Parts: sequence; C-alpha cells; structure tokens
Amino acid sequence: MSEYDQYIRNTWFEIDLNQFQKNIQIIKDHVKTRVLVVVKANAYGHGLVKCGLAAEESGATMLGVATVGEASLLRKADVKIPLLRMTAYGENEMESFIKDDIHFFVWTVEQIESANRIAEVKGKKANVHLKVDTGMGRAGVFAENVKLVVEIIKKSGNVNFEGVCSHFHTADMIETDSVFRQIDKFEQALSTLDDMGITPPYIHLSNSPALLRFKEARYNMVRTGVITYGQYYERNTELFDGMKAMGTWKARLVSVKTLPPNHGVSYSLKYRTEKEERIGIIPVGYADGFHRRPLGANKVLLNGRRVNVIGSVCMDQCMIKIPDDLDAQIGDEVVIMGGQGSDYIDSLDIADAWGTNNYEVFANISDRVPRVYI
Ligand SMILES: *Cc1c(COP(=O)(O)O)cnc(C)c1O
Repeated sequence: MSEYDQYIRNTWFEIDLNQFQKNIQIIKDHVKTRVLVVVKANAYGHGLVKCGLAAEESGATMLGVATVGEASLLRKADVKIPLLRMTAYGENEMESFIKDDIHFFVWTVEQIESANRIAEVKGKKANVHLKVDTGMGRAGVFAENVKLVVEIIKKSGNVNFEGVCSHFHTADMIETDSVFRQIDKFEQALSTLDDMGITPPYIHLSNSPALLRFKEARYNMVRTGVITYGQYYERNTELFDGMKAMGTWKARLVSVKTLPPNHGVSYSLKYRTEKEERIGIIPVGYADGFHRRPLGANKVLLNGRRVNVIGSVCMDQCMIKIPDDLDAQIGDEVVIMGGQGSDYIDSLDIADAWGTNNYEVFANISDRVPRVYI
C-alpha cells in the first residue's frame, strides 16, 4: 500500500487478514444487523486497501472513511460497496463526495442546499446521512431541529436521504445514564422522521463499545471500528468469543554491543550504564510512531522477555538493554506490540506508557513501517 513497502526494513507490522475476517463474521453473527466497518486512518493502521477489500468480502454493508483520499484509494482498488465519509468537512470537499458517490453526513440547511446545487451541476445525486447531535457536541443537528432540516432534504431533488445517525460519547464508560439519554434523543429524532412519514434506509448509532454493550442501540446498522481489529477500547473489555488482535508490530535486533560501565546512551545522555551492559539497537524510532518517553516507559519483547528501551528514542531507532542472563543475537525478533512466547504487550500497555488511548498507538504506526500480510 505505502510506497515504502517494496523496501526491506527490519521493522514491520504483521497483519492477519483471516483473523480480521473472523472478527467481522463474529460481529455480524452477534449483532444481526448490517455492519459498517470503519477503515479510516489506514484501517486503524492495519492497511486501508487490504482491510477494505477483506471487509467487503466478509459482507460489510458499507465502509467508513475519514477523508476523500481514503475513499478514492478504496475505489481505485475496486471496492464496490458504499463508502461513508464520517466526520466534519469543508464545503470545498463536497464536490468530490458527490462526484465519487461517497455518502456523507449533513446537519445544516446550508450543507443540504450546497449538496443539492453541486449534485445538480454534476448531474449526480448527493447521498446524505443526517447526523444528529445527541450529546457529543461535535457535528450534528439537535433533535429539536430535525424537522426543519429534513424539510429541506425533502425539497432537494438531487439529494438522496440515505441515513440517519448519531455518535456516542461515553459508550465505553461504566456509568450508562448518559448513553440512555443519547438513545432518547436519537429516538426523538426518529419519531420526528416517523411523523413526517420518512424512513431512510440506514439507521445507525453504535460504535464498538455500544454494539458490544447496548443491544437496544443497534438499529439496522452498527459502525464497528476498533474491535474489528481485535483491539479493546478499554482494559477488561470482553469482546465476543473468538475475536482476537490481528496485528503484531515487530522488529529485528540490528546491533548488539557491550558498553563499559558509566557509558552514556543516546541523545542527552539520559541513560548511563551501571556496569558492563549489552545494548541492542532496533530500527524503530519516533518517526515510525514509537513515542519518545522517559526511561522505563517503553518496553519491548525480546526472546520472550520484557526488556527496557533505554535512553531517548531517536527518530529512526532506539536502544534496548539486554538482561545479562538473556541470550540475544543480531537478527533476533523483537515485538513492540503483540505477543511473543508467553508474554503480550497490549496496545493498552503502550497507551498507558504514552499517556494516550490505544487508538492513537496503532493509528500512528507510520507509513514507512511495511505492512506484511500473513
Ligand atoms: C471512528 C468512528 C467510529 C468507530 O469507533 P470505534 O470506537 O473504533 O468503534 C464510529 N462512528 C464514527 C462516526 C466514527 O467517527
């Protein structure tokens, strides 16, 4: 996918597309609704086109993207199912949604009027999903104003009213009152549509945590993101039985060297050897998406053991401390995210070390890390 993939690197993101398809099948079996598979952000780092094609083959109804570029790459790869451009956008993007038949959100009168005008000029239809703001405070029309906006859709001959949807802000939290408040708001929007005698084909509200936890919020399509990749959104989450992570970020040791006592390592000399120590290099740096963090935060697996990354992470490489009793040779496989032997570094472990969420960890494995499909 990326232009770098043809070159050998001693770090790569290993992706099991079979497991991806299994995950989708399991979700479909449980939810019994249509499934929109979210492949934005390079399929959460797992490779947009491969995952998009695999999801289509597994019976996804639609794919969710965040940019026109993502949609265009999928179309070039001959993905046939509808694509939904989620998230807010500038009006200057609308023309390409319409030209390329990409479904998109609308929530203001101005957007609908523009969509209608542009579609007319292009001799096309604009496929819109009405986004309702049930509490997120981001894109969306308030439930109270749905009627006003839908009147405009009704009057717009070049606009297909394809869907109505909203997004949860706290579906992953223990406290569930706010989820039910959002469902109530969504229901209010739906009954307005009902009163107007309009039912768009796609009614969708649930993201990953919601589709796992709130059966009543599945409507006729769910939008499954993070869990499709077998990743949790939070510790102690139970995925449906059989779902598993499908990506392992790996590298190889490219250097093993013994440093004398009291020898500095890396920029700013934040690490000094206490005694004679073996230091390994892996070709993974912050430009690959591996954050620079203080000593002790970053760990990787080497020959089944969790070892410390020491010194500052450089742009293209970092150093690890090889324990005295661990056999390690140049070429040995290192796991940055995933399992090795009986140990497992979860994306959530890395997220904790970096002070972020795990989505940010895999979505930011950079383009120059080859994706290898097994
Ligand atoms: C990203 C996104 C999702 C997927 O969220 P997950 O938590 O990864 O399932 C669903 N809906 C919208 C609108 C999104 O932007």
